[in-house]
Amino acid sequence: MEAKANILVVDDSPENLQVISAVLKQDYKVKVAINGERALALATSAEPPDLILLDVMMPGMDGYEVCARLKQNPITARIPVLFVSSRDDEEDEARGLSLGAIDYIVKPIRPSIVQARVRNHIELKRSRDLLERLTTQDHLTGISNRRRFDDSLHAEWQRAARTQTPVSLIAIDIDHFKAYNDHYGHPGGDQCLIKVARALAACVTRPTDLVARCGGEEFGCLLPSTDNTGASRLAEQMRAAIEALGLEHAQSPTHRHVTISLGVSTALPQADEPAQALVDMADAALYAAKGAGRNRFVARSR
Ligand code: GH3
Ligand code: MG
Ligand code: MG
Repeated sequence: MEAKANILVVDDSPENLQVISAVLKQDYKVKVAINGERALALATSAEPPDLILLDVMMPGMDGYEVCARLKQNPITARIPVLFVSSRDDEEDEARGLSLGAIDYIVKPIRPSIVQARVRNHIELKRSRDLLERLTTQDHLTGISNRRRFDDSLHAEWQRAARTQTPVSLIAIDIDHFKAYNDHYGHPGGDQCLIKVARALAACVTRPTDLVARCGGEEFGCLLPSTDNTGASRLAEQMRAAIEALGLEHAQSPTHRHVTISLGVSTALPQADEPAQALVDMADAALYAAKGAGRNRFVARSR
């Protein structure tokens, strides 16, 4: 059984909240908000809603403004909004939909229609979420994949160019992994990749940091607003964390356990410069770490 979806109902009238909740609470986890500020707070909470039923006319911040703010914030922009309004003229409905709402329901509500529309929108939301996961998650390890990494890299690089803050990147590669596969077999190699991926992902703490599997036994770590010292500290933590996993590697000339080599790069983006500059610098540092004996990091910055 799938977990119940979360629905947030926003209305300044307690009676309306009561009526709409009663219609939905059998099938969904329903939360209510009595004004716009409260709605925005609940939408960004740890358990965000899958769908928001939003009253249009409310004192203070009205539904249009709540919707506009939800759509402006990347964290809440993808939560579908259904307007529930007592006004049924074309202009109001068009305005709601143009603000990014997915549907518009006119009060007084008809329970079976609300249930059916909500069910449809929740189903669509679930398909979109699944698609999002499939396109951004690495299927073997469950961490972010290369597509997600490239998208974030370009977005963060552009942001850093605007704000003139440094960006760091760590290129990570498992040492002598071909020998590991040859000795322990491909399924054994896959298990090793899963453990290494989880350990690397557990090393980062900031919500904007990203660890991804970029290919085979190669990983990348993107660190926005991080200088070379901070990134180097993290690289050493990652190196130590993988060594400490204690995964036997009988064929490694470097160490009796599985180890990684890391290349750290830090740059302040110049105008119109492609992010590839940062990637190339990290790759060169990684190559140097391999050449210097593996199980270590080399850091470069400019
Ligand atoms: P180095 O220390 O220089 O990095 O040597 P290496 O052997 O790790 O590097 P190389 O790039 O020659 O080999 C990478 C190996 O990773 C090749 C392949 O056997 C293995 N590999 C790549 N993708 C996967 C995967 O999805 N699953 C498994 N099990 N192995 C993989
Ligand atoms: Mg490799
Ligand atoms: Mg390797």
